[in-house]
Amino acid sequence: MESPELSFTLAYIVFCLCFVFTPSEFRSAGLTIQNLFSSCLGSEDVGFVQYHIRRTSVTVLVHSALPLGYYMGMCVAAPEKNLGYIHKVSDSWRLFLLLSICLQLASWTHVIYWSRRHWHNHPISRGLQAHVQPPHSGWGSMAASVNTEFRRIDKFSTGAPGARVIVTDSWVLKVTTYHVYMALQSECHVTVTESRQHQLTQDLASPAQILTLRVDSINPAIRHYDIRLNSTEYAELREKLHAPIRNSANVVIHQTISELFLETFKAQVDLNQPYTLPIGQEMEPCIGCMQVPANTKLVRLCHTEGADNESGCQQCFCRPMWCLSCLGRWFASRQDQQRPETWLSSRVPCPTCRAKFCILDVCGVH
Ligand SMILES: [Zn+2]
Ligand SMILES: [Zn+2]
Ligand SMILES: [Zn+2]
Repeated sequence: MESPELSFTLAYIVFCLCFVFTPSEFRSAGLTIQNLFSSCLGSEDVGFVQYHIRRTSVTVLVHSALPLGYYMGMCVAAPEKNLGYIHKVSDSWRLFLLLSICLQLASWTHVIYWSRRHWHNHPISRGLQAHVQPPHSGWGSMAASVNTEFRRIDKFSTGAPGARVIVTDSWVLKVTTYHVYMALQSECHVTVTESRQHQLTQDLASPAQILTLRVDSINPAIRHYDIRLNSTEYAELREKLHAPIRNSANVVIHQTISELFLETFKAQVDLNQPYTLPIGQEMEPCIGCMQVPANTKLVRLCHTEGADNESGCQQCFCRPMWCLSCLGRWFASRQDQQRPETWLSSRVPCPTCRAKFCILDVCGVH
């Protein structure tokens, strides 16, 4: 179907998705609430709490206007529907218009309710009110504490704009599109609940482990929330966060690129053909760690791959002497640490005889 109506609908849906979830292209084009309304939002550095109260309110108003925008766009895109004349439009369009107007009115009512008594009812100020302790009376002192600490340059800050994590001297904050989650460091404990590993591939420039941490507060008025970060940032978070961190799921946290690379290395070796020990030969302990049997053997396999014989790998005649982890660490240690994207395709010398090998030449011993 090639109608302006359908093209407009598809384009509008894509626009809405991008506007709400703001991929980096949209962000660099400046099509974000923060950018479009920067003049009335003020500065995040001057007043973090006030800025986000205004930002979340504007976000609710603008996002709830999107269905109405669709209707108005449709008036122009499909003039034959007479959408501009309310008595002439079909029932389904009338219902859509009614619902869009209701949504818009509801969000205005909501924001007006939030703004009463100097934004006393806004979820962010309610979150701060829950933290107010006896010597103080209003949430103003809490807001001032967050604002001051946010301005310090030694805060920990990470994540995409839709789910930013900020740890200041006494607060753990998570900034999302519609809300800012807050917990006092002195009242919360943090649990590592999940880890997702992204292996090094040709498309991914470096291996990554994404950790999910749950922030629980002993304050019953504060709901728990999840924060996400890259495992390489974990040490920095640890430094800033004084709250205890529990590791419930026994997640192994890989804090360096080399440790992360080990997972990729092991997965790749599993794909290579295994090596069977000659009869009479026994598996010896790994000479690197002396902990586990030496279960790898270097066999030049890669020359069969591709047309060129100039692979540069050499046959290693050493018996199995290294375990997979030690060989993986050796492999990673000989790489350009700044350019992990080259690791999969590079060659390193055998730790014993210096014959060059690539990742395709590493066989598991059975
Ligand atoms: Zn070893
Ligand atoms: Zn060798
Ligand atoms: Zn090779």
